[in-house]
Amino acid sequence: MSLILKGQPVVQKIKNKIKEDVYELKQKGLKPTLGIIRMGERPDDIAYEKGILKNCISVGIGSKVFEIDRKASMNELTKLITRVNEDINIHGILIFRPLPDHIDVEIIRTLISPQKDIDCMNPINLEKVFKGDMDGLVPCTPKAVIEILKHYDYSLLGSNVAVINSSLVVGRPLSMMLLGEKATPTICHSKTRELQKITSSSDIVVTAVGKAKLFGAEYFSEKNIVIDVGINDDGEGSICGDVDYYKVENKVKAITPVPGGVGSVTTAILLSHVIKSCKNLHNE
Ligand code: NAP
Repeated sequence: MSLILKGQPVVQKIKNKIKEDVYELKQKGLKPTLGIIRMGERPDDIAYEKGILKNCISVGIGSKVFEIDRKASMNELTKLITRVNEDINIHGILIFRPLPDHIDVEIIRTLISPQKDIDCMNPINLEKVFKGDMDGLVPCTPKAVIEILKHYDYSLLGSNVAVINSSLVVGRPLSMMLLGEKATPTICHSKTRELQKITSSSDIVVTAVGKAKLFGAEYFSEKNIVIDVGINDDGEGSICGDVDYYKVENKVKAITPVPGGVGSVTTAILLSHVIKSCKNLHNE
């Protein structure tokens, strides 16, 4: 029977620390506050926003939503981002993505203040990660993966980690962060040969391909710790991971569930970044 690496205890630990920090900052007259920039009213954005606002309330972080029409121009969005950058009452900024096609995301990335960039969109913050500096605002999902492994006492030092994802949001920064922990990452993608050989022989396997239940038991071995980052529609009204959980859960050493694994920890990390930004902005 595999150990189930639930996200909840990790979330609780992060939230407890946030609450302590919120209390201390409050004593100094500061209220860490998140600014959400949302273009239009996509149902996915509204649902995500609702979850984040609820989480903010649960830890005492303030929040403010800056809504702009989905058809707003690049110039209008730029003006809004500048306004939120300059707002001294906002410490962390989250821009909901995907942005509409007429918006140039590569330019938007560069506009968000690096000090308030809690989702690590700005290339300045990403570059730090690639240079080995993990003290800044690092990407939330890779950080969540590392926090889960650490919480459950899995040593990263010298571990072989198969990362099945090469995107800038997950696989690439995660591999840099794993290097920082002195693990040995192997970045895999859709053209990787002998993937089963790589995964089954690795100590840790991180999947983030975005394909429901793609990885069955044949990809894994008894030595694997499996971190499933994928969030997919299972076609039956629920969400599931990239791993065929019920076929794998008894084969590997440990596995994260979906839902209830990496996703919840990612949100907690995002909130912890609001605290980090607030402290940095006020030299605390
Ligand atoms: P993405 O940009 O589409 O990247 C997918 C990656 O998977 C690519 O590197 C792709 O390889 C690889 N891939 C696709 N099919 C494969 C296959 N059959 N075998 C091996 N590799 C394969 O997606 P993303 O934005 O990084 O997100 C990936 C997943 O993570 C999605 O399910 C997303 O919802 C989830 N996610 C979760 C969180 C969280 O907090 N839990 C956060 C972000 C994303 P190529 O480069 O060769 O195409």
